[in-house]
Amino acid sequence: MSNYFRSHVDAMAGYVPGEQPPAGTQTIKLNSNENAYPPSPAALAVLQSIDGEWLRRYPEPFGEKFRQTISQILEIPSDWIIVGNGSDEVLNLVMRACAEPGRQVVYPMPTYVLYRTLTEMQSAEIVEIPYNQDYSLPLEELIAANGCVTFIASPNSPSGHVVPIDDLRQLAPQLSGILVIDEAYVDFAEENALGLVKDYENVIVIRTLSKGYSLAGLRLGFGVANPQLLHGLFKVKDSYNIDAIACAVGAAAISDQAYKNACIVKIKASRTQLATDLKQLGFHVWPSQTNFLLVQPPQGNAEYLYQKLKEQGILVRYFRQPGLDNKLRITVGTESQNQALVEALSKLLKELRLHEN
Ligand SMILES: *Cc1c(COP(=O)(O)O)cnc(C)c1O
Repeated sequence: MSNYFRSHVDAMAGYVPGEQPPAGTQTIKLNSNENAYPPSPAALAVLQSIDGEWLRRYPEPFGEKFRQTISQILEIPSDWIIVGNGSDEVLNLVMRACAEPGRQVVYPMPTYVLYRTLTEMQSAEIVEIPYNQDYSLPLEELIAANGCVTFIASPNSPSGHVVPIDDLRQLAPQLSGILVIDEAYVDFAEENALGLVKDYENVIVIRTLSKGYSLAGLRLGFGVANPQLLHGLFKVKDSYNIDAIACAVGAAAISDQAYKNACIVKIKASRTQLATDLKQLGFHVWPSQTNFLLVQPPQGNAEYLYQKLKEQGILVRYFRQPGLDNKLRITVGTESQNQALVEALSKLLKELRLHEN
């Protein structure tokens, strides 16, 4: 076929999501960090009550109902909030507004793979700075690189660690571009960086309903920053980026804090149990403030274990990437899913030891 694309699009690989088996397939899906539990019953009740008239009309262009609800829950004025079709869209809006050829987009590695894709889409320059061995932030290098956009996921994926607020407070005022703090996993963490948006005009904190609120399929996320910064992002968003269903269901979900908190308590307890079980099998397990664990198998044979688990219908995430290719990222599932995983791994490791002897 002829080449119809811009040269940088032609050169791009495109984002590769975790495998998504068709709904109803019998898999234990621990590869995309979806929540182990269903969405809030209150949110599902709103979904049932959706009126045809809502769908006939265009939705609110700024997701006003959802925005008002976030405003109440987080106690921030609603004009400090931008709503997106998943937090991925908000990340993309920052890039559309700020990145261009000749400008640098900076982030520590390893992190969320989408940052690279979004940078390539704008044909901006990619500056990837390795995390220190202990996953402490390479602060000096990030400041020196001074990107038009700097992405920090905190908690980070796939490492699971939280970047200390003090580091972010040192970083923000030293950058002449925007500091994006991606808090996709904040509901599973012990601290958050929301307070920074009041103190630094160049900080945007981005959150999602995909992880903590069990609504990955709904596609709803939001960003919090000062209204002047958001004004630039509103200019480049799609006119009706939030559909009416997502807006109504999302508002109900975020209002039901009690349900969300109860799920988080269960997942944190399962996370502790799973970490203990995997350590007992000889895995190195990194501390996590998310709903997943980064683990290194005792013999470093991560790809083999990933394949073998997949054959048994258990999906975990394997990254063929320097520094990660001897590790697995495993979503914390329900107790029974975690048990099935631990049993499968235990058997596989036993078989390997027999072969060795
Ligand atoms: C899952 C994830 C997101 C994407 O969230 P959506 O709201 O589903 O688009 C963003 N950032 C990180 C680090 C994630 O892991």
